[in-house]
Amino acid sequence: MVIDQFADEVYGHNHHEMIYADKHLLKVFIANILESATQKELGPFYPLKDSLGLVGFVAEAVTQAKDEGEAALMARLANDQARSIVQFALKEMKVVYGANLYDTFDAYVKIDAEEIRDYVASRFSKRLFLDGFTNLSWAQMIFLSKIMPLFQDTFMTLDPISVDKDSWSKFLELLAAKSVEVLEEELASSAKVTVPLERLLSDQGAPVSLEGDFIRVARPRDPEAELIQVCRDIKRRIVDDGMLPGEIAVVLNNFSERAREFSRKLEEYEVPVKVSGEEPLSSSIAVQLLILPFRAALAGYPSHLLISMLDHGLGLREAVQFDLDGLEALARGAGLYIGPRRSSLQERRSEWKAKLEGHLEAQKQRLEVLAQDDSVYDIDLQAREAEIQLCQEMLEKSGQLLEALQGIEKFREDGADLELFQKELSSWMEPLKIRFLDNADLETEAMALAKFEELLGKLKVVVNIMGGKNQTLQGLMALLEILISSEEYRSSPPLANKVEILPLHSARFRHRSIKYIVDFNDGIFPSRRTNPLYSLDGSREIPGYCQIKEREQRQALYSCLCSSSQVVITYLSASREGELMMPSLWLDSWTFEKTNALERETAPMSSAELMIQFGRGMAQGGEPVVPESTQSLIAPLKLYADSEFSWRIEDLAVVQSLVGRSLSYTRLSELCKCPFKFFLRRMLRLEEQSNELYELSPIEKGITYHAALKSLYDWKQKENATWDRAIEECKVKEVVEGIMQRFLAANTVRLLPSVRRAMAEDATGTIQGYLEFERDNAEKACIGERTLVELPFERRLADMACLASGCGKKYGDMILRGRIDRIDINVAQKKKVYDLVLSDYKSGSSGEWDQLKLYTLVLLSLEHKDLPRSPELIRSFFRKVRERTISMNLDAITSQSRMDLSTRPKSSLSFSDVDRELLQTLDKIFEQREFRPGKMIEEKGGDCYFCGLKQNCESILNCRGGMQ
Ligand code: SF4
Repeated sequence: MVIDQFADEVYGHNHHEMIYADKHLLKVFIANILESATQKELGPFYPLKDSLGLVGFVAEAVTQAKDEGEAALMARLANDQARSIVQFALKEMKVVYGANLYDTFDAYVKIDAEEIRDYVASRFSKRLFLDGFTNLSWAQMIFLSKIMPLFQDTFMTLDPISVDKDSWSKFLELLAAKSVEVLEEELASSAKVTVPLERLLSDQGAPVSLEGDFIRVARPRDPEAELIQVCRDIKRRIVDDGMLPGEIAVVLNNFSERAREFSRKLEEYEVPVKVSGEEPLSSSIAVQLLILPFRAALAGYPSHLLISMLDHGLGLREAVQFDLDGLEALARGAGLYIGPRRSSLQERRSEWKAKLEGHLEAQKQRLEVLAQDDSVYDIDLQAREAEIQLCQEMLEKSGQLLEALQGIEKFREDGADLELFQKELSSWMEPLKIRFLDNADLETEAMALAKFEELLGKLKVVVNIMGGKNQTLQGLMALLEILISSEEYRSSPPLANKVEILPLHSARFRHRSIKYIVDFNDGIFPSRRTNPLYSLDGSREIPGYCQIKEREQRQALYSCLCSSSQVVITYLSASREGELMMPSLWLDSWTFEKTNALERETAPMSSAELMIQFGRGMAQGGEPVVPESTQSLIAPLKLYADSEFSWRIEDLAVVQSLVGRSLSYTRLSELCKCPFKFFLRRMLRLEEQSNELYELSPIEKGITYHAALKSLYDWKQKENATWDRAIEECKVKEVVEGIMQRFLAANTVRLLPSVRRAMAEDATGTIQGYLEFERDNAEKACIGERTLVELPFERRLADMACLASGCGKKYGDMILRGRIDRIDINVAQKKKVYDLVLSDYKSGSSGEWDQLKLYTLVLLSLEHKDLPRSPELIRSFFRKVRERTISMNLDAITSQSRMDLSTRPKSSLSFSDVDRELLQTLDKIFEQREFRPGKMIEEKGGDCYFCGLKQNCESILNCRGGMQ
């Protein structure tokens, strides 16, 4: 037992009427005192009275006031303000709790040996063994001098280096007064071991050489290398040297940062391991989930906490796996984050219901619109359907969650009785227990829950001492959170034959055959600790807070070294980010050989490492030899033994089945720009990410412009109207708003008046501006006698064989689908008359010649009652809606099967050239079948900035080692 625990137990046995104030309860009481203090009492600290940090600082000072005496403590505090707050806390502690509480100091000095004689005789044996003491405090001397006579024999080991001679003689005097006979014996130890240890404590003088094996120092490259080297060395010692796991420990002074990493790695190596240090209960995930609903209630049910609860399945009748990204997108889209920050449960419920229902309806409408548009991929439609399904599910599950929260809401409104509060906590705990208790991987969380249940008992004590009956939910939660943040939990039982990962202070008195002291770097050994109530830099007579903490840690390291037969110290050369790191200044005490103590030959230590090594061996063309017993592990990798990564799909049938029979210009152009994007989008059907929250997505924008222009044209022809009239009568605005409505409603953010107005004005202005261009530049705009809009087509390549014989023959079954935006018939220009003018609206990007060439051929192959049978002269171009102009003229002279392009300089090509180009593109897909990223193809360079599949592409390139 730890001596404090021993004293508390024997004192507590005879004082049932009092409660033991451990450091956690002490913090709760201090928090209570500070919380009810006035501005005058706390002075400049008043604004911080609710801060957990201040509570911790004051609690540390109050504990030390007892240990060292109030006067000694006051001399060490920073200033009068610090003294005043500590004195106030000490005074209040006495007044409010004095009679009810005792602490370890009281147990040491107030214990009455006669009162506990019988208890000690029955509870403990006849002999007392005292080990691991460096120096005894005055209170401990009093306690031990009273206790020792109760035992038949006492054996005590003391380290002569650290024992203060004066206090030892005082202790002997106390023992003599109790008629205790003392026999002293000095045990010899090796100078090789003691000299470096003494040097560490003295902190002055020439460095001492580390000889032999007792302390060895290694310098790994970075934390990752350190982790692997240390864990491999541990496993080798167990497997090759026959050590027991329980003989080994890893010691950390940055425990919370790295303990998990070491335990996971050792687990991967199948080494039994326990993380022995204690962690604050507040860091347990199970505990965080448990108090989340109560926190949410106090915070007025903000949407982000509700989403988090849904994500973790809290309050739901059965387990659901939500995709967090989808959930987030849905919450943003439905405007759940836009509501009031705090509200009652009832109001939040109605708000969420209305928003989710509205959103669901709008999503359905949008799906309907998109489904009618040919240019929308099936995969996009499926994604919209999935969104609708998620929205339906969210509507149902959020209803369940908000209903489950009703019990907590009742407390919030009416005030909470402690028992009911505990009952409510238990009801939220039950499902978590089911989730965590039977899961071997979550053993730690199960322990945290067990500790939490114990803590509820402590909460009861605290509430009783504070005399509160009708507590508010806020008050109870504040107490609970203080207890949670100060309570610690062990993650495994104390006696187990496992490698133990320990914080420095716990490693002091645990004897192990070998300890690995890792991250022995400046800033970690010692770690900087601070308490602003204390003077940080002291003088020789009165050391400052930092010096005392440094000294404490130095002594802890000393004790840690004393209690090991061998030690390996590792310090890092650099951080993970490559930043250089200094070794601990304590290393200056020693000189040592800079060999790397951990670098023995490397071999895989886990199945994962074995697979990596095997894979690497094969990739380098080798033939790794593996033992028979591990064959099953590597069997799956053998499947790839003869394959080499390539961007090519070997099997034509695979490409045919992924691509299908129908193609459109958009898909073909995608292939030309970036074959890999074509592969991801068209063949694997991955969805592109797009930010469509505050503006219309490119698809929606395109659909809006096309649909608006179509309906304006239909209206103009039907009414025999002019664009002037359309503009005067605000017809454009009316049409645009009507069409956009379907998209605006699909997202609540867009329905916000300002966002909605901005979007509608943008689209109306663009379209109106374009119509003005047609009105003012009729000739340039090539307005025909008649106009056809939105002419969908679906042509088998075989049906176009007279125009494109190559494609027709080879890929006759392929279907070319699309839509010609507009055809003007009989367009008279100054010098010539065009039978047909084909045009395509462009809302953003500039168009491509290939589209004009292909669409011209398609137009020539179409049979339509409104189109002339044998057009002679056809012009094709793009109508750039935003820029109010046309661009890129292509004139097709059918009698000569020729196309003239307005390139600079002008160029011409025959229909068979167009056929050949299309054939080449199709061959790329079906014959070459190589889908490299555009950015790897030099002449393309990739259009990666706006690519919605950038992440997928980059992760593949990265795992292949870049653009090789
Ligand atoms: S990021 Fe660039 S190279 Fe990769 S798929 Fe997108 S466009 Fe192609």
